[in-house]
Amino acid sequence: MSISYDEALATRPFKHRIDKRDRRAVGERLTVLEHAPDVYQVYSEAGEEYLVEIRAPSCTCPDFQYREADCKHIRRARIEAGEYDLDGLATGIDDALDTLDERLANLAAQRAELVGFRREVDRLRDATDE
Ligand SMILES: [Zn+2]
Repeated sequence: MSISYDEALATRPFKHRIDKRDRRAVGERLTVLEHAPDVYQVYSEAGEEYLVEIRAPSCTCPDFQYREADCKHIRRARIEAGEYDLDGLATGIDDALDTLDERLANLAAQRAELVGFRREVDRLRDATDE
């Protein structure tokens, strides 16, 4: 679905809403080792070790201890265990990419119109300078 030129002008900047902990769980070099059923050792890029229980869930990292959110370690351990909705994550990313593509197309259209408009202004300016 595309939006009109005038709608594009009225549109606020777009920021995707892909969860930052999902981005870190997927994007960082985390090493996951199965420790016991549903329990994993997750090593950060810096070599820090965290103990994750994917069912409760729990993790020994500060993010989980202080914020009680499903941290990147829990998410990554679930991914490794095949217990994470990667299809849902992929769909969310695809939707964000579609929206960005739409915005880019509208920005390109606006730019092209302004370039043409600027040329016309120059042409009229030159014609009246004589
Ligand atoms: Zn954690």
